[in-house]
Amino acid sequence: MLSPNVRELGFERVDGVPFDFQAGQWVSFVLPLPDGEGRRAYSIASAPDGSPGLAIAVTKVEGGPGSTFLHDLPEGATVRAIGPQGFFTRPRGTPQPSLFIGTGTGVTPLRSMILDALGSGDESPMTLLFGVRHPEDRLYVEELTALAARHSNLRVEYTLSKPPGDWSARHGYVQTHVEELWRDLESKNAGPPHAYVCGLERMVGSVRDLLRKQMGIERKQVHSERYD
Ligand SMILES: Cc1cc2nc3c(=O)[nH]c(=O)nc-3n(C[C@H](O)[C@H](O)[C@H](O)COP(=O)(O)OP(=O)(O)OC[C@H]3O[C@@H](n4cnc5c(N)ncnc54)[C@H](O)[C@@H]3O)c2cc1C
Repeated sequence: MLSPNVRELGFERVDGVPFDFQAGQWVSFVLPLPDGEGRRAYSIASAPDGSPGLAIAVTKVEGGPGSTFLHDLPEGATVRAIGPQGFFTRPRGTPQPSLFIGTGTGVTPLRSMILDALGSGDESPMTLLFGVRHPEDRLYVEELTALAARHSNLRVEYTLSKPPGDWSARHGYVQTHVEELWRDLESKNAGPPHAYVCGLERMVGSVRDLLRKQMGIERKQVHSERYD
């Protein structure tokens, strides 16, 4: 468990062939659900490393058959998956200041992009703005904190929509903090920033509107993935 309601699952291709994908892509799982076979998409949380493996992180949705199946899946089980799929990717090898904005498990493709970028020596300024309700809902905190400490080009900011009384850092929805963090990336004069936004439709739509309509950012600089 990465948090009280998010389970991380690691899979490996049964044929042992390297699983070739780009950071930010997703995989469609074909699951035996109570009403018959069903497909559910999950972003790849791990970075491409030439191995047969991949990891996903699944939020348990109340009454949701797909996420419940994956939360109950025993170790060693085999599932069918189709992929990789999707175009929510960040160009590799091209420096690009990036503002990653994710809520809940929407952070997973962003984690993959960040690990991939840092692993390939990308020194572009990168900021991750990660929104959840409670402190314990934050995923990969230790890893992200360590990465930000090791790489001066990575900044990690959390915002809580339901902060406890003793929380003195950022709070409120991610939308509250987007403009400030975008301007900070712009001020580094490293080229036009790009935004990578991932999570549920309400947040993604609202952040896109903020960037595109209120801040006038060009369409080609705003990339997004919706989970619902
Ligand atoms: C491209 C893509 C990538 C995705 N990647 C992930 C991922 O990495 N991790 C993940 O947990 N889900 C992810 N999803 C959502 C996932 O495919 C399923 O929709 C989710 O697991 C719910 O399926 P279910 O059968 O349990 O519930 P259903 O009965 O199908 O209920 C669906 C409802 O659950 C809600 N929901 C869906 N996803 C979430 C979520 N992550 N957090 C809270 N509520 C949610 C929505 O309101 C949606 O209407 C992704 C979806 C897409 C389209």
